[in-house]
Amino acid sequence: MKINFSSFFKGSVVKDAQLKRDFFTQILYSTIFTMLATLLLALILHKHVFFIIANAATLLFLLVLFFVSRKNAATFMQKRIYITYCLVMGCFLLPLLYLFGGGVHSGIPLLFMVIGITTILLLDNVLMVVIFALNYTSASVVYYLDHFQNMCDKYTVLGDNTFIDIALTTSFVGPFIGLFLRSLTGHFEENQDKANDLLGRIENAATKDPLTGAYNRRYLIEYIDKCIDQVSKGELAAFSLLMFDIDHFKQINDTYGHLAGDDCIKSLSLILQNTLRKRDVVARYGGEEFICVLPSAEDTPAFRRAEQIRSTVENTILSGDVNKKITVSGGVAMYKIGMTAEELIESVDHNLYLAKEGGRNQIVWHDGGIAPLIYAVYGAETLQPVQNSGRRFSDATKF
Ligand code: GH3
Ligand code: MG
Ligand code: MG
Repeated sequence: MKINFSSFFKGSVVKDAQLKRDFFTQILYSTIFTMLATLLLALILHKHVFFIIANAATLLFLLVLFFVSRKNAATFMQKRIYITYCLVMGCFLLPLLYLFGGGVHSGIPLLFMVIGITTILLLDNVLMVVIFALNYTSASVVYYLDHFQNMCDKYTVLGDNTFIDIALTTSFVGPFIGLFLRSLTGHFEENQDKANDLLGRIENAATKDPLTGAYNRRYLIEYIDKCIDQVSKGELAAFSLLMFDIDHFKQINDTYGHLAGDDCIKSLSLILQNTLRKRDVVARYGGEEFICVLPSAEDTPAFRRAEQIRSTVENTILSGDVNKKITVSGGVAMYKIGMTAEELIESVDHNLYLAKEGGRNQIVWHDGGIAPLIYAVYGAETLQPVQNSGRRFSDATKF
């Protein structure tokens, strides 16, 4: 395994500079308020003068850091401020407060925890290790002075209101950490929403045709392959393709212009999408050619659906600018075991070609088997053309 040392040395847990600043501001506020409250309490309760001096020095240090931090937004300055905070607080000020403020019975250990969390989250990995090492060295000295020299007992007596510090520290530090976690969650959710939105747009651009909103050829092939796979696994009983091509479309373009031609293509796409089921896939295969995939449909229902579409187009005004009846020809092909996606498309394209050869405005399936067979099987009424001649396209979309 290759380790990227340079990124390890430079990297920190929180990467976003603004998020780091937010976190640091919360931590700074929490420690400033804690120190202020502790100082007032120490004065009221007449705590040892050493504790009061250490407390005031810490408060002063934090206030200076706060103003420097506000004045210097540059990332490199912020980094220096974080280092100064973790080092000075962890190595010097907190140990003094601990020793003069009641040791383990005070609230100072909680602040050591805050420095630990800040060091881990904000500092680059190497600095994090160095500062932890220095802080642990300082903590060892404090431990020695507390447990072997009984230093804490010289300045405070157990029970002389030192416990109030724990309550103070907890009540200031806790909510600020909570607030930071809230902004952290919001930050991640916002990023997640942006990423999802972007992913959706990329997916759309990669799979859809911009003119019609129908799927593109690449998605179509993928979808057919997926259906073939499902049939081979027994998850799908059958599926069929429909292919449509507008008749004499060149003439429409030449006579009424390309924009009117585009209108017709868009309207045909809408008719296909509105007539077929949600799970069917409508794809623009070429200029004015569409291929539809109908999962679970054998050739007979697929043919009936194609015939319904042909009839709808014939009776619909596809473009307000085209003063002429527009028709489509279509082919139907059902997937047979062993076929590839390309072979299936060739098969449906062949049937479309036969429909064109046969005089256009008709659907061909089974290599030339056209409507009469269906009439024989289901009766003529099943294939009655839609009696809505002259309806505008907007009406036809209600089918
Ligand atoms: P047929 O009945 O045999 O299909 O005759 P046709 O004139 O429709 O012939 P064909 O299907 O080959 O014509 C395709 C025409 O579609 C040629 C091209 O100018 C036009 N076309 C291709 N893409 C677009 C498009 O995006 N917009 C418009 N308006 N026309 C397009
Ligand atoms: Mg055509
Ligand atoms: Mg064509």
